[in-house]
Amino acid sequence: MQMATIGATPNGGVNRVALSHEDKLGRDLFVGWCKEAGCSVEIDQMGNIFASRAGRNNKLLPVLAGSHLDSQPTGGKYDGALGVLAALEVIETLNDQKITTEAPIEIVSWTNEEGARFAPAMIASGVFAGEFTLDYAYSRIDKDGLTLGDELDRIGYKGKSVVGNRKYSACFELHIEQGPILEAEKKSIGIVTGVQGISWSDIILVGKETHAGPTPMKYRIDPVKSSLPILSEIYALADKYTPHARATIGYLKAEPAIRNTQPGKLVIAVDLRHPDKKTLSLMHKALIRIAEKETSNSSISGTVKEIWRSEPVNFSSTCISMIDNAAKKLGLSSMEIISGAGHDSVYISRVAPTGMIFIPCENGLSHNEMENISKEDAANGTNVLLHAILEASSMH
Ligand SMILES: [Zn+2]
Repeated sequence: MQMATIGATPNGGVNRVALSHEDKLGRDLFVGWCKEAGCSVEIDQMGNIFASRAGRNNKLLPVLAGSHLDSQPTGGKYDGALGVLAALEVIETLNDQKITTEAPIEIVSWTNEEGARFAPAMIASGVFAGEFTLDYAYSRIDKDGLTLGDELDRIGYKGKSVVGNRKYSACFELHIEQGPILEAEKKSIGIVTGVQGISWSDIILVGKETHAGPTPMKYRIDPVKSSLPILSEIYALADKYTPHARATIGYLKAEPAIRNTQPGKLVIAVDLRHPDKKTLSLMHKALIRIAEKETSNSSISGTVKEIWRSEPVNFSSTCISMIDNAAKKLGLSSMEIISGAGHDSVYISRVAPTGMIFIPCENGLSHNEMENISKEDAANGTNVLLHAILEASSMH
């Protein structure tokens, strides 16, 4: 709740967009808490924050737990922050109980998970796992033309340690489900087996802008009008690959976006998802065909540009069973679940054994200021995280 006062919005949500002043304040608060808990804190070149608690044998690879502290512009209190602060709570609990684990434990807060200000999302964990170069990440620009690298510098979180130099025996991320399944199935804990693949594409339709009055309809080359069958076919694509497929049209950007000018250009921002790699690829190919089909016999030019793809992920069976053991030990109801949202754990799973724990969120709402969880679910999820970390940190 104290973290959520930073960037608090009037509707009860949070606006702590990556590398904003609020993000800096949230980071400062978190770093202060980690130091109070006796952790040593290190910042890497991407601004990822690592807080370490020593174990009995510090030659063993540490166990990592965490998530992200940045939010959507109209985000909720728990998306990301729960996983970071739950990891800190685990360490505080170990301190209170005077327990020293065999292997060291680290908490992480990844930079710019949301991708709301700097696309693509999960960029810092992506650099960590070798998906993006540091230069690529630094050169990302926001809508005001500011670069991620400069903004990292400005808020004082461009650290010195090399990104991706750290190795882990196991990584855990506790997160709210951001969907309605656990609540509907009346389960306390989601044992995440993997993450849906995601493909982001822009469909760019180019016509000719013209005056809204003097130009009769038949003389127009109107990309907005041409988009109508394309839009409905995108939704039909999700129906075709039901129940796991998702198709979202996040925004339509007409240019020049003036009421009395028929636009000359329309960008359709599409988000396609599926847990199966081959099906996701089929969906993307179908998207290209849809745009081709609807523009081939018109004066509109249509191109589809895939700007980002994250392949589906299967999490580590070892981490999955540690989470399962923890839920059983605590007597909590649980189920296996596939994550519909992208997470830093997607990239981290490429370089270390990784698992995720979900807890229910009210009405499945997330990326929404009304996002809410119960104290009981938060405590249950954090206890599962604790016991999974205890098992992982005693393995060697
Ligand atoms: Zn998140």
